[in-house]
Parts: sequence; C-alpha cells; structure tokens
Amino acid sequence: EAVLDRIAAVDGKVGAYITVDNEGALAAADAADARLAKGEGGPLTGLPVGLKDLLCTKGVKTTCASKMLEHFVPTYDATVVTKLKAAGAVFPGKLNMDEFAMGSTTEHSALQTTRNPWDLTRFPGGSSGGSAAAVAADLCLASLGSDTGGSIRQPASHCGIVGMKPTYGRVSRYGLVAFASSLDQIGPMTKSVEDCALMMEAISGHDPKDSTSVPKEVPAYRSLMKEDEGKGLSGMTVGIPAEYWQAEGVDPEVMASVTEAKALLESLGARCVPVSLPHTEYAVAAYYVIAPSEASSNLARYDGVRYGISEREGEGLLALYKQTRSEGFGEEVKRRIIIGTYALSSGYYDAYYKKASQVRTLILDDFTKAFQSCDFIISPAAPSPAGKIGEEGDDPLKMYLSDIFTLSANLAGIPGMSVPCGFTGEGLPVGLQLLGRHFDEATLLKVAWHFE
Ligand code: GLN
Repeated sequence: EAVLDRIAAVDGKVGAYITVDNEGALAAADAADARLAKGEGGPLTGLPVGLKDLLCTKGVKTTCASKMLEHFVPTYDATVVTKLKAAGAVFPGKLNMDEFAMGSTTEHSALQTTRNPWDLTRFPGGSSGGSAAAVAADLCLASLGSDTGGSIRQPASHCGIVGMKPTYGRVSRYGLVAFASSLDQIGPMTKSVEDCALMMEAISGHDPKDSTSVPKEVPAYRSLMKEDEGKGLSGMTVGIPAEYWQAEGVDPEVMASVTEAKALLESLGARCVPVSLPHTEYAVAAYYVIAPSEASSNLARYDGVRYGISEREGEGLLALYKQTRSEGFGEEVKRRIIIGTYALSSGYYDAYYKKASQVRTLILDDFTKAFQSCDFIISPAAPSPAGKIGEEGDDPLKMYLSDIFTLSANLAGIPGMSVPCGFTGEGLPVGLQLLGRHFDEATLLKVAWHFE
C-alpha cells in the first residue's frame, strides 16, 4: 500500500510506470500476509518488485514501450516472474524503457517520458530507465531490467542505484521479449548490494525453457558476499585497463569519482594492476552490427498477424506488413531493423555479421587474458552523468558511442555491475563498473558491498 500510495503521489512527475496494477498487487500482498501469518514466507514475501515492460506477465499488459505492443497482454509469465512469485514478491506494475530496449536514455519510449529522480530535467539513462528511476524514487523496493549492451548498468549509474548484468546464461530469458538474443540478460536493479544478492538468488538458475541458461548451481550470494567480512579486500587483485581509464571524452568529474573508488579499494587491501583489453576500440562497431542483425531477425515476428497491432487499408499481405510496421515501430527501431537486414543480407553476411562475430571472440580473449592477472576489473559505468532530456537530440552515433564501457561485457558474456561511487558537483550520481569472470558474480558482490 505504501508503494502504491507513493506511485500515486509521485509517479506523475517521474513517469516510471507504464502500467500500475493496483488490484493485482493488493491481492498478491494479501496473499503474502496470509502466508506470513502461517509462517510460510519466502525470501521476498510481500516485497514490491517493479518489472521492465519487456518481461511477459500473464494477464498484465507488456508493451515494450512500443505502439506495436501497446495493447498486448501475454498469456504466460516470464521465468523470472514465476521465480519471483515463488519467492513471494508482489508486482506493482510495469516500467518504462526505450522501445524494444534500443537506446540509452529511455527517450525512445513510444509511450511516455521518464525523468531522473535526482533532477527531473534529466533522463534516467536507458534502456531500463523506468526500472532505475522507480527504485531511486522508492516507487518499488527493487526492480528487474535487461541488459543487451549496458541497459541495466548505465541507468543504475545515472540514478545512483545498484545494477547487475549477470553472466550470459545465468538467468533464463524465457518470456523476455528478445532484442539481441546472444547478448540479452535480465538482472536486478536495487537500492543496496545486499538486495542485489537477494534478487540474484531468486532469479538465477537453469530453466528447461531456455536452452542457453546454464545448469550450474546458484551460489548463496548473500552469505558468500559476507564470508570475508572484516578482512577487507586483502589478497584481491583489481585490473585497471588503460583502454577504459585513458579513454577520450570521459567527464572529469566521473573520472574523479571512479579514481576515488579505486583508492578506496586499495585502502581495503586490494592490489591494482594494469591490464590490457586491446580490442576495446572495436566493441562499439561489433556490437552495432551484431545487435541490430539479431534485432532485425527477432522483430520480424511483428507482422500484423501474430502479435500486436494490425493495420491494413491497402490490398494484400504486403500492405499489411508495410502499414503495420511503418506505424508500429519508432524511428530508432526502424533504423536498427534496416541496419540489421542490410548486414545479414546475402553477400554481406560474411563481411559484417561474421566479421563482427570474429571481433567478438577477440574481445572475449582479451578478458580471458586479463583475468589471468586480476580477479575483477573496474572502470566508469558511463562516460558522463545523466544528460538533459532532449539534449542528445537526434544524433544516434553520439548515443552509440556512450555505450563504450558497457558493451564489451555483453559481447564477452561476462558479468558486470554498477555500484554508486560518488556524485558530481551538481549532485548527479556516478557509478563504478565492476567486471568479473564468467559466473563469478559472487566476487563482484563481495567487492561492491564495501561501497554500501
Ligand atoms: N544502449 C544500447 C543500445 O541502444 C544498449 C541497450 C540495451 O542494453 N538494451 O543498444
């Protein structure tokens, strides 16, 4: 009730929720109360968790912030939703995002604007901007986002909260509306590192419905996080990649905050060593071939027949496709579909998608080598703090370049996290990114916990 009251009072200004499910949430909360009274509570019983609006929820609209799916009501729950329900969570509603998760500011939502709770003239980051703003503004206690190239970590950084992109395969993608299937991962966005660990325990694990989810045991993240309590970080080695720390165009205040964070890690006993990720300069190019290619294929299903809107005035099937897709998709989504269709077309596949996949392997090799001499890597999560709404204008290239620090983790499949590490002079939050070995989310949580 407190969360629903707060949404009613504040969300008119923030714009985080696309759908608020008052009735469903209150009924689930009553059921949670009853279970608690019987001593049957789970780890998240009664806790309100917001969901990015690309996670399928049975009987509740799932729009992907697109005109295409504006009225789409799924007939089943995503696996993460099923798992959260089993752990006792309650869902106040569905959160705004860039259309089909394509963007870095949430301004590409076709349905509404979300504002950064720290400064309402600024964007919250994206694409999981609604998920980040909702947690920052106490419109839920935790949320889920999805991260294809930074969409959990970057908005977490801009909104001063914790966000984790798990290892590819750690969390089932069943029921996540696909953007780029080989890069997408669902992950938690929370107020604290401990909450992040709690959410990770609830959503991780193998799912027979997602063949890319990995049959590995889910660690007890919360107790692992605290196992060396009091010992600081002695014995741990932090990788400092020159390619990230000497990158051009990074805001000096962001650099100052992450430099202080590095000093904090050293004061806790960690040893910093230089590492090299020489293929970093190709990450943006490789990502912006691979992600649009996979998107063009995934979004072919919105044909006016099977899902979402259906528009036809002219004659025949082609008219149906053309009109539905012209009206249903926004500019950024169309741009990606066109780039992806071009890159995958006959005669170009080898030159673009295959080449980008080869670069992807080189990027993975860089990380594998770097992790031979360090336990985890740190960098800024984003090159600048949250900008003003409307400021990025219509310059897609500028937007793509701002993903420089986050994309590589998705290309390599490794886990990444953003944890608040300071503020700019104007009071805007700055996030420190932590990158780890495959399936070693526990180390990231253990380190991030020292920033609480
Ligand atoms: N900003 C990146 C893009 O536009 C990443 C998006 C994401 O992680 N979903 O593709």
